[in-house]
Amino acid sequence: GQHLLEVENLHVEFRTRDGVAKVINGVSYHVDAGETLAVLGESGSGKSVTAQTIMGILDTPPGFVTGGAIRFRGKDLLTMPKDERRLVRGEGISMVFQDALSALNPVFTVGFQIAELFRKRRGMSRADGRKRAIELLDQVKIPAAATRINDYPHQFSGGMRQRVMIAMSLALDPEILIADEPTTALDVTVQAQIMDLLAEIRRERNMGMILITHDLGVVADVADRIAVMYAGRIVEQADVHSLYAKPCHPYTMALLDSLPRLDLKGQELNTIKGLPPNLLRIPSGCAFHPRCRMARDICSAERPALIQLGDRASACHFAEELVGRE
Ligand code: SF4
Ligand code: MG
Repeated sequence: GQHLLEVENLHVEFRTRDGVAKVINGVSYHVDAGETLAVLGESGSGKSVTAQTIMGILDTPPGFVTGGAIRFRGKDLLTMPKDERRLVRGEGISMVFQDALSALNPVFTVGFQIAELFRKRRGMSRADGRKRAIELLDQVKIPAAATRINDYPHQFSGGMRQRVMIAMSLALDPEILIADEPTTALDVTVQAQIMDLLAEIRRERNMGMILITHDLGVVADVADRIAVMYAGRIVEQADVHSLYAKPCHPYTMALLDSLPRLDLKGQELNTIKGLPPNLLRIPSGCAFHPRCRMARDICSAERPALIQLGDRASACHFAEELVGRE
């Protein structure tokens, strides 16, 4: 059937002075109302660029969509007239960015910024817009919302500012919320609070959520499904429990090994050796092969396809063995 949001075989490249960087190389995923898809990967894996392409904000650096479709309620955003697409932004799909300080306008109070959104997009009066702004700040649990709407973004702590950002992203009642590393800039306690808030809001509003992160530790309690990205492709996709219980791609296995464990406090982390690939020169065959502990000759020669094995998918030449193991 049709999904609420469907990314299909998306290809994006950046044409730079040094050459063409293949940033997204055939990504497909979907999200429905009431579920959270986590998109996991190191920086440069293409997870943010996919989100920016969905939002239609892929303008800097010089990014080009070279193939695929992004369907929202069955309509392709990539071929939709600009006016129509602008309406989808905010109302259909909305985004929370990592850096709330640079996403908010520093010279206006947060109340004014939210009220403006209601005035422009909903034709509300300033007074009504302010009322709605207070309600929204209240919903994201900002204490004393009625006075805090008169504050400027820099007057909020990092965590409170991220709540403001979330409030703004909810203003037009989106059906899908994309959160791109929403807690990366925050300390651990505040991170957990923001993740709880996002989960609660997602539940209450029955939204679909795409949670983009490099941190596998953040998503366990919140996500339903996980798509793991590497070099612009999805290398593994599974529901969150199966993925943690039995990762079936060597990259996911390495990511899980690198998680800090409470029972091993003080010990050094198992970081994945080597660097993420240079997207101007993606390694042949399986892009992960230079870093993979399981790599064999076939890995640099042939690119493994993402194959479906039961209710999960893995792009490794040894996927079947990995799925079949005890
Ligand atoms: Fe490793 Fe080969 Fe599987 Fe790639 S295809 S993840 S290099 S074993
Ligand atoms: Mg990013």
